[in-house]
Amino acid sequence: MSSSAFIIFIFTLLQGFALSTKNSEEFNAGTTRGSDNMMNSVKTAMDTIITVNDDQEVFAVDGVRIREGDIAVSRHNERSCFAQTCLWNKSVDGHVYVAYTLSPFYSEVDESGIKRGMKLIERGTCVRFVPKTHERDYLDIQPKSGCWSYFGATGGRQVLSLQAPDCLGSAVVSHQLMHALGFLHEQSRADRDKYISILWKNIWKDRLRNFEKFRINNMDTPYDYGSIMHFGKYAYSEDGNPTIIPKRNQNARLGQPFGPSKLDIIKINKLYKCD
Ligand SMILES: [Zn+2]
Repeated sequence: MSSSAFIIFIFTLLQGFALSTKNSEEFNAGTTRGSDNMMNSVKTAMDTIITVNDDQEVFAVDGVRIREGDIAVSRHNERSCFAQTCLWNKSVDGHVYVAYTLSPFYSEVDESGIKRGMKLIERGTCVRFVPKTHERDYLDIQPKSGCWSYFGATGGRQVLSLQAPDCLGSAVVSHQLMHALGFLHEQSRADRDKYISILWKNIWKDRLRNFEKFRINNMDTPYDYGSIMHFGKYAYSEDGNPTIIPKRNQNARLGQPFGPSKLDIIKINKLYKCD
């Protein structure tokens, strides 16, 4: 994998993104395996994020539309990632230190949730989240409305919003940290149609744009139904019917509520060339 081939993404510009509101329905968590029923499906990290962001009507950050439900992409950000420089710097000691600050509005319990999410990424990778001292580039983690992050390193301060307490589960935290490291959602891979079917008719009409594909470097990793970055089967369902169906294994679960999968960890290691 060449880092120069890191990411080239083309946003398909669809028309008519409407900022209408939706009374988001709670996706009740259950444990029934393989059921095609939203009420019985396990609530994934992304299901939680969708619920929070729709409830809070988080559709834009600094006037720029949130992509795919929880990714902030500033124009500068988009350009810099296109120029393949949106990775965090790697230290000579082989670690990728990502500096952060935590809002004083977080409680100790809140902070421990965030740190658990950081640990899930650190375990098995060369990424290390460190309290900011002198670093120019850093994550400014704040309990703003919703759960969202900028895509990749934007340079300088970049806000990552983890609304308390809704976004402080370690799986949701690690999902947002992976966006900040430079990952999009698994089902937005350009080759996704080999692995999943998007059931467009079941998707809430104002959310169709959240199912775009992007030409990104998959780093020779297999498609991962169990990625923490995968939408759940019922993401943005209008009527409780599935919006994404796995092609290869009909009963495969999509997404999960635990944390980075083995393949997610492998991808981080590949992207940052961890030894
Ligand atoms: Zn996301």
